[in-house]
Amino acid sequence: MQVVEGLLAAAIGLFVGSAVWVVSRQRATDRPLRAGGSCANPRCGVPLPSASWLPLFGFGRVRRCPVCAAAEPQGRVIFELAVAGYYALAVARFAGDHLPHVATLVFAVPLLVILLIDRWTQVVDREVVAAGFAVGIALAAVNGRYALFDAMIAALAAAGALTVAGWIASALDRSARVVAVGRRDIYLAAMVGAMVRETGVVGFLLLSVALLGLSRVVIAGGGSAAPGVGLTVGACLCVAALTMIVR
Ligand SMILES: [Zn+2]
Repeated sequence: MQVVEGLLAAAIGLFVGSAVWVVSRQRATDRPLRAGGSCANPRCGVPLPSASWLPLFGFGRVRRCPVCAAAEPQGRVIFELAVAGYYALAVARFAGDHLPHVATLVFAVPLLVILLIDRWTQVVDREVVAAGFAVGIALAAVNGRYALFDAMIAALAAAGALTVAGWIASALDRSARVVAVGRRDIYLAAMVGAMVRETGVVGFLLLSVALLGLSRVVIAGGGSAAPGVGLTVGACLCVAALTMIVR
């Protein structure tokens, strides 16, 4: 039974990963969400057939743009498989207890969209954060008044803690542009706070700081701080949140 559930979760994850990729790329390139995403070539960008919503290059049907023949990036399939694995893991972690894994599978969607867009543009998508926050609050409300209160307090705590961490980081090192905490990062922290609530908020913040520290060490070791090389604050928050919701 567990194996069947795991395989089903992986299959759902594969489709979710594909849809998340399409939505993220359209938002990152300011293109409308038509039938199924656009060509990856920025100079072409024509809408692709609606099969491009489906995973594994629309099951092999949309490997290339029909107009300019630009290939869909291989990273997309890796991402889809990673989401499939993550969904299987989430279901395995919460076997028998349905509410936490439903919440995890739902919360993962805005987190993954924000993460992808942030990797491509180094900008946290504010509208997706707002949607994710609303979902976090709504799922807390389903659990009752105490859970709702819990989610709101955790959202405030996460936002407050990240604000203070940003002040400390900029006081310690004025050149540290990589760790500059922006207002959008603070909104994102509030969204995650609403998702992980009081029991997860401290772990989320500690993990975020650890990831940020680690990515800075990697950048220092590599000798360059080119955009896209290290993890941005937004990416660290997303990865920490994805870890905490499946813990
Ligand atoms: Zn094209």
